[in-house]
Amino acid sequence: MKQRVNLTFPKHSISNPLAYRLARDFNIAANIIRAQIAPNQEGKMVLELSGDIDQLESAIEWMRSQEIEVSSDKREIIIDENLCVDCGLCTGVCPTTALSLDPISFRLDFRRSLCIVCEQCISVCPVEAISINL
Ligand code: SF4
Ligand code: SF4
Repeated sequence: MKQRVNLTFPKHSISNPLAYRLARDFNIAANIIRAQIAPNQEGKMVLELSGDIDQLESAIEWMRSQEIEVSSDKREIIIDENLCVDCGLCTGVCPTTALSLDPISFRLDFRRSLCIVCEQCISVCPVEAISINL
């Protein structure tokens, strides 16, 4: 199973080799979606974890024991089809091809499974058709 989580690291945990420990100790693959980590500061990261459900729970428990705050990331991109004019501007900034224009209908196609909620598409839409559920 896959689970997206938000992590907040205290200053002293920044150097923890997290992805390596998750793979070695829990057989969990960790895909880094976003990271904001600076030396001697609190760090934030969004990870997509893949693995067995029991191992995922154990891995999250272990991260919490390391003073890392863990919460589920349930944010999603919402596209208002009534506002969208299919201009395609958002497809140019999407790093994962979650947004594309259908080559036949020229309508915007959004594949949610590819979206990493990077939010880059929101500000480029001229009609404010893209938002995020917070
Ligand atoms: S949030 Fe990022 S990944 Fe998702 S559709 Fe927008 S640009 Fe693409
Ligand atoms: S930028 Fe906005 S209007 Fe243009 S295709 Fe994307 S969602 Fe639709």
